[in-house]
Amino acid sequence: MPLTVRPRRKRSSRIIVTLLSGLLPVVLGSAILYIQAERTLQQSALQTAEQALHQFELMLDNTAQAARELLPLAGKTCEAVKLALREQVTRRPFVRSTNLVWDDNLYCSSLFGDFKEAVNAGDYTQGKLWLMNGNPVTPNTALLVYRLSDGRGGALTTLDGYHLSNILRLIGRDTLLLLQVGNNWLSADGTVHQGRLPTLPVAQSKLDSSHYAFSVAAGFAQGETWRYMADEYPPLFSLLMFFGVVSAAIGHVLQKRSTSPSHEMLRALEAGEFIPYFQPVVHGDSKRWSGAEVLMRWNHPKEGLVRPDLFIPFAEHSGLIVPMTRALMQQTATLLGPLSATFVTPFHLGINITASHCQDLALVDDCRKLLAAFTPGSINLVLELTERQLIEPTDITRQLFAQLHELGVMIAIDDFGTGHSSLGYLRKFNVDFLKIDQSFVAMIGVDALSRHILDTIIELSAKLDLGIVAEGVETQAQADYLTAHNVNFLQGYLFGKPMAAADFISALSHH
Ligand code: C2E
Ligand code: CA
Ligand code: CA
Repeated sequence: MPLTVRPRRKRSSRIIVTLLSGLLPVVLGSAILYIQAERTLQQSALQTAEQALHQFELMLDNTAQAARELLPLAGKTCEAVKLALREQVTRRPFVRSTNLVWDDNLYCSSLFGDFKEAVNAGDYTQGKLWLMNGNPVTPNTALLVYRLSDGRGGALTTLDGYHLSNILRLIGRDTLLLLQVGNNWLSADGTVHQGRLPTLPVAQSKLDSSHYAFSVAAGFAQGETWRYMADEYPPLFSLLMFFGVVSAAIGHVLQKRSTSPSHEMLRALEAGEFIPYFQPVVHGDSKRWSGAEVLMRWNHPKEGLVRPDLFIPFAEHSGLIVPMTRALMQQTATLLGPLSATFVTPFHLGINITASHCQDLALVDDCRKLLAAFTPGSINLVLELTERQLIEPTDITRQLFAQLHELGVMIAIDDFGTGHSSLGYLRKFNVDFLKIDQSFVAMIGVDALSRHILDTIIELSAKLDLGIVAEGVETQAQADYLTAHNVNFLQGYLFGKPMAAADFISALSHH
């Protein structure tokens, strides 16, 4: 059946589309969250670097102050300045040792008093700062030396690496924080490394001090962005999942709708797949062709020719039956209209109409257009209304039928004998023909009761002066019986099956 085959065939692609529509918000949302997390980490790294930089500058201010106070003493004997050197160590919280230099020689130290060691200004970054990995007193312990010189004299004050690595650890916490001085750098574990500062994998921020020759780098370890998202965003992820499910559901429903029978039929209507077939109707006495009933077929691109009882109910349900019938009437006009001058007149043209087509006056216009395509007076247009679906009499329908009759359009009750139309009903709508349902015709010579009903219908129509058409005539015996009972028109396989327009037109020329 054409209306269900299509969705089934595309099941896999439907699943894929559903999955994709579910994944889309999750993927997009995750990407946005990832960017957001990266930004947050970037900000956090920058802040941490700023704080560390500020702290180091404060410490160095302290150390530099000691050097400034001691510099004027350079050149004096160690004995004379020894106390002053120690006093600075005691007074200043971050200063670990103080030393005086004369002519590039360290000659007095707060720790040892008299001392002798060459000082190389080249060891100091910008001549000012040297990050050392310990000295002879405390090897392998970081030490930051501040150098201040003026002429031949100089002062060296040292800052304990312990304070520095403490800052790296405490301010850093989740952040990787490094202090760089020249070609050496200090990590949070207190180790001094030589060489280039390593690149921090995530959200690296590097700040140079504007006062001293050092810089600070902050950043995060590999994979920190995902870890951060996993820690901070679970509620947002739940929301994304929710959106994903909703979106998948919407995608699923929309696809179902897009392959629903009415959608598929609308597509077919636009593609002109509903075409007319013509079944000859013959005169009861002469058996000459008197016209045809137009029967709809769906010329489905994959399913082939589809019988009307498989799709007409869907068409009626969706309301598409009206435009479908209209399209059928237009095609009939185009196909048969040009031949109408050659018709043995009047040509009986039966069109099946549903009740929904009778709810406004548009049907009058449809019939007018159809008639306009034929030579005037060449056809008897007969609208067939099935007895199973009777029309409620209203002002509109009364008007409709009056206008149809004015146009010369006739009304037939189709499938007569299977529904409940009353005599009053037949009169009210000015019915012109009764079409005896094929089930009664099939019972001729088989079932006495059915034949009795058939006889009654024929009698009734004669009394009401209604034309009568018997359909479903398949055997000569049935034809003979109906002719003997003066049935005006016969229709059935005995005379011709419903056929495509080209076949019908060529057969028509032989009759
Ligand atoms: P219907 O209006 O009663 O049409 C007569 C049906 O009987 C047609 O079936 C026809 O092919 C079939 N038939 C004709 N002669 C014989 C025969 O000797 N023996 C047998 N067994 N059957 C015969 P079809 O074409 O399949 O149409 C079925 C029904 O679909 C029609 O019944 C009609 O109710 C509906 N239909 C067809 N075309 C249209 C249309 O354009 N609009 C509407 N609303 N309904 C249509
Ligand atoms: Ca019919
Ligand atoms: Ca019928």
